[in-house]
Amino acid sequence: MSAEATQALQPTLERAPLRINVAAVLLDIEGTLSPISFVQDVLFPYAKAKLRDYLSANASDPAVRDILAQARDLSGAPDAIAAIEAWQANDVKAPPLKKLQGMIWDSGYRSGAFVSPIFPDALAAFRRWHVDGFPLYIYSSGSVQAQHLFFEFTEEGNLRSLFEDYFDTEIGPKTDLASYQRIADQIGRRPQEIVFMSDNVKELEAARDAGLATVHVLKDRTPSTPDFREISDYSEITLGLNPAS
Ligand SMILES: [Mg+2]
Repeated sequence: MSAEATQALQPTLERAPLRINVAAVLLDIEGTLSPISFVQDVLFPYAKAKLRDYLSANASDPAVRDILAQARDLSGAPDAIAAIEAWQANDVKAPPLKKLQGMIWDSGYRSGAFVSPIFPDALAAFRRWHVDGFPLYIYSSGSVQAQHLFFEFTEEGNLRSLFEDYFDTEIGPKTDLASYQRIADQIGRRPQEIVFMSDNVKELEAARDAGLATVHVLKDRTPSTPDFREISDYSEITLGLNPAS
């Protein structure tokens, strides 16, 4: 068989390029621009392994004392550290535990214990869009403080300057359409001028219902759905300016 004939038999995996006319881009983090495994396999085990060391090394830090006092109040148990460890073991998102994990991750990032991974095709696209003048925003369930750390200490260095602003669930749940309306208000755009990209269909439904354009990002074996425009590589997307903006 000739080379050309062999080539003709190859399945066509490339989809048609996706052209989206918007003025701004809103991005989820986990599963969208970074592997979900980073949080599960790196961040949480690190916080778990370092918890006792961190508490004893920082026992005189007023913030740590506050956390221990809160843990005693919240659990009603005299042993704050045992209470925090029990929440951790049972994956209870108690505020004192979350605060402490944030502090441990902060020290982990700053000491170079780990860096955050970004999908290379995502980063290439963000750099292109940023240069082309499309403001990029983040909306993640991790706190804004955790998002700042995530982008300050990446495999590719400090990427904070790529992003205009960051939103977390203080603005509302990611599956609630009102959250997307509030984000649009805050960034000073109409919902139709913003595209939201996520691996999570429930989030995309809320964003769509709020009037945003949507892209379902298929990384990490995310299942495909017929309901949303999909990409598996960011090079498939071309952003054009929304004529209404
Ligand atoms: Mg996600």
